Amino acid sequence: MDNHRVTTDSFQQNLDLYAQIKWIILARVVFAIVLIFSSLFFSTEDNLSILSQPFLSLYNVAAAILIMSILYICWLNRKKGLLALAYFQTMVDTVLVTGIIFVTGSFDSIFTFLYLLVIIYASMLLLQKGGFVMATLSSLQYGLLIELEYYRVIPPFMGHYPISINLDETQIIYRIAITIAACFAVAILSGILSLQLKNVRQDLKITQEHLKRVEKMAAMDEMISGIAHEIKNPLASLSGSIQLLKEETQSGSYEDKLMQIILRETERLKQITYDIMLFAKPSKTNASQVDMTQAIEDVVALFLNTLEWKTRIQVFTRLEKNIFVTIDPVHLKQILWNLVKNAAEAIEGTGKIIIGLKSQRNKQIYLTIRDSGVGIDPKTAKHIFDPFFTTKAEGTGLGLPIIHRIIDTYEGMIDFESIPGRGTVFTLVFKNTTPSNGQTPKFGHTTKS
Ligand code: ADP
Ligand code: MG
Repeated sequence: MDNHRVTTDSFQQNLDLYAQIKWIILARVVFAIVLIFSSLFFSTEDNLSILSQPFLSLYNVAAAILIMSILYICWLNRKKGLLALAYFQTMVDTVLVTGIIFVTGSFDSIFTFLYLLVIIYASMLLLQKGGFVMATLSSLQYGLLIELEYYRVIPPFMGHYPISINLDETQIIYRIAITIAACFAVAILSGILSLQLKNVRQDLKITQEHLKRVEKMAAMDEMISGIAHEIKNPLASLSGSIQLLKEETQSGSYEDKLMQIILRETERLKQITYDIMLFAKPSKTNASQVDMTQAIEDVVALFLNTLEWKTRIQVFTRLEKNIFVTIDPVHLKQILWNLVKNAAEAIEGTGKIIIGLKSQRNKQIYLTIRDSGVGIDPKTAKHIFDPFFTTKAEGTGLGLPIIHRIIDTYEGMIDFESIPGRGTVFTLVFKNTTPSNGQTPKFGHTTKS
């Protein structure tokens, strides 16, 4: 199973891919133009006709690159199938490189290094897998080209001597082996670097966004908790008095019904003040080591207890086992429940929620809750962590601020990505407190509920 899927965020990936592909198309266009001008320069330098070979062929390659670039730009602007586009264009590039090598003297060509460039940016776009695919393709094409020319299956390009004249088979094999080794060495190295870069960038983004909100919240903090305290006491005497009054009224009477409404609403107010106080000061005193995997499964079971959700929402979990976090279990449950509930409320009709849990290098734990809901538009996105901000008729707007405060207390972080109309993913980062003598975490536990 692909264990990166749990933490990588495909939305972000799409945005990154879009920007990266754009730059690569641009770089390729620049390369084609440089190719044209350098060929012009060299052909006039040597007093050759600009239509002589290999220059003519190089112009053709440059023209092919420019035409393909137009196609790529159209494809890119459709913003669909970006991954396929990335694969397609890098594959085409390996073929173009082989073409350039062929017209510039195959074995003698100085352009073999272009394969390495393609492999490097394939790794940047498509991580290790892309790098390896391109390394394999490059090796095959180069090996075939040289071998076929050596055995005279394909004639050497105009003006070149057949390579079999002054080279023997070992030299050929040696050269091919070196090139293949270089391709794979570059694929491995650039694959590792790209993956590291990606993880670091993701962590950095989460940290930045999180810290920005922490500052914003600190400002509101004292005022809000002050208000909650002021409300709490009068509210307690209010509901106590009503309760006493209610005992004296006849059940079922008009007064009784009114009192019930008052009681229900005071309960709601109490809940809100409780939430606000939790928002203001979550305390770590009840923290203990909690089995995250178990906690998630419990919340999912609870979630599926609600018939309305069970019938329209599918919940998938992809959880690593034996992951422990030091947290108050009540807080953890509050976090999980609020996130799953938000996800469910974002889904109109049927849809799915995917929960992922993964530890990275045993340092941090990544929890992701992904939904196929309505998504969050950029204007709303700025405010979803603001206390009392809600887009729901019945919402309190306290779910996310509370989660934020709780996770802050435990030195964790929260961030999200969303595509309006497609869905949202919330990513939470916890400190890993898995006992080191515990069993090694296993991955690959997939359940569909
Ligand atoms: P509430 O759920 O009471 O509205 P929250 O703080 O939990 O308060 O959420 C604030 C707002 O953030 C929501 O009203 C909604 O607009 C948005 N939101 C939160 N989670 C999601 C989600 N998974 N998908 C879409 N919008 C969301
Ligand atoms: Mg909510």
